[in-house]
Amino acid sequence: KERNPNQPEFVQAVREVAEDVEALIAENPEYHHQQILRRMSEPDRVISFRICWENDDGDICVQRGYRVQNNNAIGPYKGGLRFHPSVTESVLKFLAFEQTFKNSLTGLPMGGGKGGADFNPKGRSEREIMRFCQSFMTELYRHVGADIDVPAGDIGVGSREIGFMFGQYKRITNRFTGVLTGKGLEYGGSLIRPEATGYGAVYFLRSMLDTQGRDLDGLDVVISGSGNVATHAAEKATDLGARVVAMSDSKGFIHDPDGVDAEKIGWIKEHKGRRGGEIADYADEFSGARFHKGKKPWGVKCDIAMPCATQNELSGDDARTLLDNGCIAVAEGANMPTERDGVKAFKEARILYAPGKAANAGGVAVSGLEMSQNSERRSWDKDQVQGLLVDIMRDIHQRCRDDGTDGKGDYCDYVRGANVAGFRKVADAMLAYGVV
Ligand code: NDP
Repeated sequence: KERNPNQPEFVQAVREVAEDVEALIAENPEYHHQQILRRMSEPDRVISFRICWENDDGDICVQRGYRVQNNNAIGPYKGGLRFHPSVTESVLKFLAFEQTFKNSLTGLPMGGGKGGADFNPKGRSEREIMRFCQSFMTELYRHVGADIDVPAGDIGVGSREIGFMFGQYKRITNRFTGVLTGKGLEYGGSLIRPEATGYGAVYFLRSMLDTQGRDLDGLDVVISGSGNVATHAAEKATDLGARVVAMSDSKGFIHDPDGVDAEKIGWIKEHKGRRGGEIADYADEFSGARFHKGKKPWGVKCDIAMPCATQNELSGDDARTLLDNGCIAVAEGANMPTERDGVKAFKEARILYAPGKAANAGGVAVSGLEMSQNSERRSWDKDQVQGLLVDIMRDIHQRCRDDGTDGKGDYCDYVRGANVAGFRKVADAMLAYGVV
């Protein structure tokens, strides 16, 4: 905390991992002697830069951009770019730190990084967004590369923004390389990448339920958010027989007792995505649904909760409400959406609880597959990528169980499992390199 004043999100993320890997470090004196955790929680570098761009009125706007390169012990830095007014160094350091463990869990050779800017894309014209993305890449290009650091999308950065940034990278460097993932299919993107995080979270959930001999059929699910991760989680959950009864955005949530079916999910994607609309309009579009302004969806009775919007969006009180309402499983699509108090409540209740670094790893896993396709200069078909995603999520689930089951009964602490398994691989690579 003293080393990182005013960085509460980063301190929160490091503390959670430190608690879980304490025992592993005690068993392996070399980890302690070589200060592995301390080295992992000091980013290799934090790059901060100015971004100037001109809005449609001709005004010059100044934003702050970052790239946090946390750790490249097991592969090039890899992690998304976030464009949102809430972006700070603390938020990106926490995300880059978490990403290191997540990427390790996938079994693919990727280190951890994250970046972004305090730019608010909401209400901006397409031309303004293009100018901002070009200006952002004009600085970022010197720090990234297919073997160095490969950014992707995150909040506020989808395929359109990736296209603008890739175009600018290509223009500046005169190189066509896999420097970004989440690209369009026409220029090196991978099938299933947009769906991968949400689908992967549901596959992880399915594996957890399977350990108790259950499946998703007939279960009620509440999902926060209505962006990329949330809509694809809703799509896959519905596909597997569940009923999604609530979804949200930053303005409030909708409760639809009839279920947000495939057609309604299509409407949300179109309305929130391309039209830049609000989830509130859902209640006008579909009878039987109600909008609850300024509220979070965790009070809606459900069997499964999937926080898929942003960090610290589910408090201890929200967790207790979910538990009182009979929630049996939580799978996080977002990064660190549950506050510490909430995590404690889920663990004490011994329900199935999957942290984001395990449950939402499907997105970066398919990004890793996109990197492989770019290196091969080939595109794999949908079934191949989909099949690999299913396998990778099943393997991540197993790694979490191997390190998260304490031998007393059949309860699995997936948080500890993810932290320990993710840590061990990176730590062993760092030991191999000596003190660097
Ligand atoms: P999007 O920008 O597509 O969607 C974000 C959603 O969350 C929107 O519905 C947005 O509402 C809502 N939201 C954002 N900030 C807040 C807030 N402060 N309070 C309430 N709601 C908020 O982002 P993604 O779906 O890509 O990302 C969602 C989460 O998943 C993030 O935590 C991200 O880090 C994580 N993630 C994403 C991956 C990916 O592949 N995209 C991979 C792994 C993790 P509104 O539209 O009103 O702003």
